[in-house]
Amino acid sequence: MGGWQDYVRKVVPYTPGEQPKRADIIKLNTNENPYPPAPGVEQALRAVEADALRRYPDPLVSDLVHAIAEFYRVEDAQVFVGVGSDDVLAMIFLTFFNGDKPIIFPDITYSFYDVWAQLFRIPYEQLPLDEDFKIREEDYIRPNGGVIFPNPNAPTGELMPLAQIERIIAANPDVIVVVDEAYIDFGGESALPLIDRYENLIVVQTFSKSRSMAGSRIGYAISNPKIIQYLNDVKYSFNSYTMDCVTIALGVAAVRDRAYLEETTEKIIRTREWTKGQLRELGFVFGDSKSNFIFARHPEISGTALFEALREAGIYVRHFSKPERINEYLRITVGTDEEMERFIAFLREYIA
Ligand code: PMP
Repeated sequence: MGGWQDYVRKVVPYTPGEQPKRADIIKLNTNENPYPPAPGVEQALRAVEADALRRYPDPLVSDLVHAIAEFYRVEDAQVFVGVGSDDVLAMIFLTFFNGDKPIIFPDITYSFYDVWAQLFRIPYEQLPLDEDFKIREEDYIRPNGGVIFPNPNAPTGELMPLAQIERIIAANPDVIVVVDEAYIDFGGESALPLIDRYENLIVVQTFSKSRSMAGSRIGYAISNPKIIQYLNDVKYSFNSYTMDCVTIALGVAAVRDRAYLEETTEKIIRTREWTKGQLRELGFVFGDSKSNFIFARHPEISGTALFEALREAGIYVRHFSKPERINEYLRITVGTDEEMERFIAFLREYIA
């Protein structure tokens, strides 16, 4: 190479799941919610006036911060918001992972973590999950530059009990521990009650899954005011206006409707459990996912073959060819009852 090319920040980007243009696809590949956002979101959208776009949005995003703080019964100063939890997580990496020691996270996990580590030149180590795809607690009790893992983990759906999470946080008082709870509302127990006891804990959640708003891009972190202040300092040194005024209004409407969140997440949990029963009958092998997806393999049919056959039939799921340990698995998002019935009907025919 040579010249300016020697000075390019070269990165291998994260590959998101496919977003097909065709409307007739059964889309079970990006862990989106099959139900619409809370009814108040549509009203808020209709109330948007184009004239409001003349102005910059509120850089403090105070309305949304306040609505989230109210929902979780914390102070406004304990909430940081961003453009999806991807943005929040990237800010966390940039703000808190600056040590010489490697940050640690599982080998099979959200595949953006190593991308940010590479982008920001943070040393990292990926710790192998055990044979049942569970996080080995003892691996996280060692010198490190920071800890991050999703709970439930993605793409496995495995939930770590809160007592175990607490032991990891308590064993790492000198670094930040981030619990990425993108899927926590589908039957998990949140680490939020621990934020008062551990000043090194950050809990990250999103509106993309349980609140059906992946298209709006809203994520948030909850921690103590000191941590949130550090995050805001970095954010305002980067881009003060990351969230647009429409998104802020829609987010406020979404978070106010607790009943709708409970109703739709319960529906998805019921559909997930029904789907598990059907997959089991068809011979699939999978763990006890507590998320809005199921990570499954069939002992006799290759992951690639199944992925291709489903795709051919207009049913999109996610298949990861790397690491090798998971290349026989499919990650299947839980859709509506009807979508899952059609998915199972296809498999019944294909496998017979
Ligand atoms: N964390 C995990 C574990 C995820 O699976 C995702 C979804 N891709 C995210 C964070 C980011 O979601 P979003 O940016 O839509 O909030």
